[in-house]
Amino acid sequence: MSKVLILSGAGISAESGITTFRDSDGLWENHRIEDVCTAGCLETNGEATHKFYDARRQDLQDKEANYAHKLIVELKHKYPDKITVMTQNVDDLFEKAGMKEDEIIHLHGFLTQLRCTVCENIYDIGYKKHNEYHNGNCPNCGAELRPNIVFFGEAAPEYDKLTLALNSCELIVVIGTSGNVLDVTYFAQLTDRSILNNLEPSPAIDDSYFTKAYYAKATQAIAYIAEDIEEFLNDF
Ligand code: NAD
Repeated sequence: MSKVLILSGAGISAESGITTFRDSDGLWENHRIEDVCTAGCLETNGEATHKFYDARRQDLQDKEANYAHKLIVELKHKYPDKITVMTQNVDDLFEKAGMKEDEIIHLHGFLTQLRCTVCENIYDIGYKKHNEYHNGNCPNCGAELRPNIVFFGEAAPEYDKLTLALNSCELIVVIGTSGNVLDVTYFAQLTDRSILNNLEPSPAIDDSYFTKAYYAKATQAIAYIAEDIEEFLNDF
């Protein structure tokens, strides 16, 4: 079991040009979260939902990983068994920085994948639009395909792995999340040591529970965070 859990959110990708949620008043790229990210939106608002994720997927194509993604990948490769990396992000910037599929857990899904609504097979479609892949139908069973994204109100199967990681890690590092979706204050209380990095304090996080907080851009804070992690691991 890993001693260190690195958990990131939309803020780590902000400097790569991907808009966060809360920094724009609960909107993501000018869409209300309820309209395109909530359970049932494919039934009530299917066309707009697909259009939204098609656009987000296409937007990813020219986005590049930043220094924070890259340094985390380096750390993961240096300490493969001691560090677990999880992200709430659905973008592929860790992968662009060199992370392999089995080295990272995307808690809320992955934009470049579609999932069958019936047989649940998952398909990598890169930056294509939903309809450009088998007309949006499952090549296995013919049922409709949907973005492989966890909408608000839906089950998040990867949370089981998060619970396991939280139970075993001794240091949690939280980067670029407002704490509105995951209760990172509680996570900090579960672990011996905890580090927080955001641009500014969030009303949904009580930073007094964290051992250390860096309020700075992730690309600036990450070198200090990497030092903290290495120091912690080398103390053992
Ligand atoms: P959020 O938008 O709620 O909060 C972003 C946080 O990042 C804020 O606390 C802000 O202070 C911080 N931040 C902004 N710029 C930063 C920077 N340069 N360096 C460090 N911190 C910075 O993000 P969240 O908590 O991850 O939101 C929850 C949901 O948003 C997630 O479920 C995720 O799936 C979804 N989302 C993902 C992406 C993506 O994949 N890149 C983009 C938007 C939303």
